[in-house]
Amino acid sequence: MASSSGSESKGPPGPVIVVTGTSGAGKGTIERILLERHPELELAVSATTRERRPTEVHGKDYWFLSDEEFDRRLAEKGFLEYVTFPWGQRSGTLLSEIDRIRAGGCVPLLDLETDGALYVQKKVPGAVTIFVTAPTFEELERRLRARATESAGEIGERLALAREQLELAEEFDHVIVNDELDRAAAEAEAIVRAEIGAGTSYH
Ligand code: 5GP
Repeated sequence: MASSSGSESKGPPGPVIVVTGTSGAGKGTIERILLERHPELELAVSATTRERRPTEVHGKDYWFLSDEEFDRRLAEKGFLEYVTFPWGQRSGTLLSEIDRIRAGGCVPLLDLETDGALYVQKKVPGAVTIFVTAPTFEELERRLRARATESAGEIGERLALAREQLELAEEFDHVIVNDELDRAAAEAEAIVRAEIGAGTSYH
């Protein structure tokens, strides 16, 4: 399975919203809705060593780094956490992103796989974790196969990973079943409002 680790010190305290779940559960879409409707949230742009997809923008979707650059950031203790996927790519949350977002008075929204999310839940006081899942494993498999061309890793590897990730659902603060997007997004919004309040500044 993916391994995740960060510096041994506690992460910077303060609210962060972490959205996690199996890939193919639709967490990206729910995150986009949250970011559109809640200007007090801002996406913490992760660093990754994987190839940029044609629609992705450097600095907006990810910071696309070479392996050497990722190593350099690791040596500088620049990551809150990072993960190495079974197919080799690494992705991690830059501490500089958390600082930048908080300095602007916003709350960071982190999009993480499950190990990274568990790590942040443990290490960052004030972290709120939301696990998004598809209604059934069959539906998850259908969604993963449908987008197999844009995903790293073999479909078998991704399904095995999804199965492991599903077993972790109950470790998180909130679980949202993405059976119907509008309903699931409304549930995510209710969690954000309850946890951080609307329009609050966190300077
Ligand atoms: P993708 O490479 O398809 O954009 O994302 C694959 C998985 O990596 C997703 O589950 C996403 O949540 C996770 N991910 C993206 N950035 C990070 C990160 O900085 N840390 C961790 N732990 N997972 C990440």
